[in-house]
Amino acid sequence: MLQQRLAEVEERLLNACNKAGRRRDDVLLLAVTKVFPADVILEAHALGLRDFGENYVQEFEAKSPAVSHLEGARFHLIGHLQSNKARKASELFSHIHTVDSAKLAGRLVGEKDIFIEVKLSQEEAKHGCAPEDLGTVVDAIQAMPSLKLRGLMTVPPWDDDPEKARPYFIRLRELATRYKLPGLSMGMSGDLEVAIEEGSTVVRVGTALFGKRQKPQ
Ligand SMILES: *Cc1c(COP(=O)(O)O)cnc(C)c1O
Repeated sequence: MLQQRLAEVEERLLNACNKAGRRRDDVLLLAVTKVFPADVILEAHALGLRDFGENYVQEFEAKSPAVSHLEGARFHLIGHLQSNKARKASELFSHIHTVDSAKLAGRLVGEKDIFIEVKLSQEEAKHGCAPEDLGTVVDAIQAMPSLKLRGLMTVPPWDDDPEKARPYFIRLRELATRYKLPGLSMGMSGDLEVAIEEGSTVVRVGTALFGKRQKPQ
């Protein structure tokens, strides 16, 4: 089942890269395993996946002992991070996509790959750095020697129509260009083609690989 879905996702990625004149190697497939048990990560790893995205520090803390030994595996935090969990998150994850302030960045411990989450929509529930504060946060993080600032991340408002996400992806790319950041963590199961057309370097894919989650999120 997973093997079949992975093949379908790979075909979508390849087609989108071809259409955009990009190389498949330039887009990382981040497998989003939130809500699923550790077994699912083991199965995905056996099929060759190496990058795994999780949303909740506590949930991954419970799964981590079963998967931390996996050869070459990298674990990415893609859910909102509270300051008081920054230390724990630093132990569990090598990549953090949801840094939204210099203060939070300053609480991370050890060498980390960082994306700054940018809030591009007006939705109350969304986290992220306001675009007008981005320059300050970029400068502050780039002055922290143990953090490698890879790029920007965003989550557009949910919509059935992937074209609705395009303006958000364009805006994120423009901001990344302005601050000379190479990485763009954008695109999910429903809109990865549009994200790749607009320059995504990391697509975060859950449902298309693992099926529907029990909890909505
Ligand atoms: C859950 C989640 C995803 C994966 O979404 P799917 O639609 O299941 O592919 C990607 N990014 C973030 C931030 C998420 O919370």
